[in-house]
Amino acid sequence: MSERALEATRELRGGGEEFDLIVVGCGPAGAAAAITAATRGLRVLILERGSFVGAKNLYGGVIYLSILRSLLTDDELSSIPFERKIHRRSTMILEGDRAVSISVDNPSWTEGLPNAITSHRREFDGFLASAAMARGATLVLEALVTDVHPGDKGTNAKVTIANGEGITEEISSKFVIVAEGSNPQLLQRISGSKGRSPAFSLGVKETIAIDERVIDERFGLSNSSGVDIEVLGATSDVRGGGFLYTNKSSISIGLVVDLADLGNKRRRPEELLENFKAHPSISPLLRGGRRCEYGAHLLNEAGHKNFPTGPIGRVLFAGDAASTLLAAGIYLEGVNYAIASGIEVAKLVADANSSMDLEVLQRLQERIAKSFIGVNHKRLSGAFEYTSSKFAQEKLPKIANSIADRIFTVSDPEAKAGFMRAIRESMRDAGVGKGEMIRELSRGFRIFR
Ligand SMILES: Cc1cc2nc3c(=O)[nH]c(=O)nc-3n(C[C@H](O)[C@H](O)[C@H](O)COP(=O)(O)OP(=O)(O)OC[C@H]3O[C@@H](n4cnc5c(N)ncnc54)[C@H](O)[C@@H]3O)c2cc1C
Repeated sequence: MSERALEATRELRGGGEEFDLIVVGCGPAGAAAAITAATRGLRVLILERGSFVGAKNLYGGVIYLSILRSLLTDDELSSIPFERKIHRRSTMILEGDRAVSISVDNPSWTEGLPNAITSHRREFDGFLASAAMARGATLVLEALVTDVHPGDKGTNAKVTIANGEGITEEISSKFVIVAEGSNPQLLQRISGSKGRSPAFSLGVKETIAIDERVIDERFGLSNSSGVDIEVLGATSDVRGGGFLYTNKSSISIGLVVDLADLGNKRRRPEELLENFKAHPSISPLLRGGRRCEYGAHLLNEAGHKNFPTGPIGRVLFAGDAASTLLAAGIYLEGVNYAIASGIEVAKLVADANSSMDLEVLQRLQERIAKSFIGVNHKRLSGAFEYTSSKFAQEKLPKIANSIADRIFTVSDPEAKAGFMRAIRESMRDAGVGKGEMIRELSRGFRIFR
């Protein structure tokens, strides 16, 4: 990493700066932790490896905002950078060249603090970083943390940052929050993979530039409103799902696929994405667009199986590093969970700092379990497995599309099939018996009820 970061760290140490908390990573989890701790009077240093905040943070595009009420002032809430405010959420089920969609339009989602927005991460993460700095936190960019020494009751924690030539600097603080994202190298360095359940998916995404007015007309939008479409049946024979989100003058489209399945089936993610984009229900939405950005990123979908992560000595983990991402079929929520976990972890650190009692950190498990992070993860604990099953990935899309086909295809002079016959025949075509259908639907119902 850069000489600049080493220089900045040396200056901080040379100037006798002392920190209560070092936050590693300035994604949503790290920034939220820094805001929370700095608001409570802690001296906070954020170390971010990117050359600007958000530089490394590829994601789909939708952020659910209500958690920010507990973090930001009203003035800050009214200036969150956004592309569009989501007023329609859809689930689309593809099979062959057919598609069934269920959409919910709710204009009230865009009023006041919106339920969800699309936003570019360099802007959203940069905005949160500024809020942390406005509260006194110090941010050093291009600072790759290569090691963390957890410390203990009598010794402070310490982090090592390094440049490309192996020259290192160390800096210590009472506490460290590691918010390094979905590829938790520091966590593995400190604790190994003991007790951790790896469940990685690969996300691939393209941003397609399209004129703002064309997007408005194509999707029936106005006044900066936007659409969030989650897609089942978008990933050919590989387990996963797709998404399509509207930005102001671009569309984010991508897939999240099971990494192991992708490897086993020897499929290329970009080939799957091309197939998805070529689907007759998707390609007209992208027509005339120009690809202006593309990339791939890991997702850590282990969820509650890895709870809690830490504390280890004076070190805690937040966000994707602590497996807080909720990937549960119709829900893909990472940023809001990362923010919530950053807040919880930083509150604990602030409590431990003021009471000078490390034992306080042991309350992490209870705090996470009681928060919406723990409750939702527990409630939806079977969702990832269910939505990745052969039934949900292959059979359900076939049945849903066949039923819709039979019901809505007018077959005069033959009489209409009727719902029951349409369901029966569609199940037969998909090779699903009555027993399997009842078992799988009630399993799904039990998970999402
Ligand atoms: C394809 C895809 C689509 C997604 N879609 C959505 C979506 O639409 N909505 C949603 O809410 N979530 C979505 N997610 C999930 C979401 O991106 C994550 O849950 C969220 O970014 C987690 O935040 P975080 O702060 O924990 O980690 P990150 O956002 O990954 O931030 C980690 C930060 O730490 C820095 N860092 C890492 N290691 C070091 C180090 N050693 N030293 C210094 N700095 C370091 C990184 O540069 C980065 O800035 C998606 C993810 C993917 C991959």
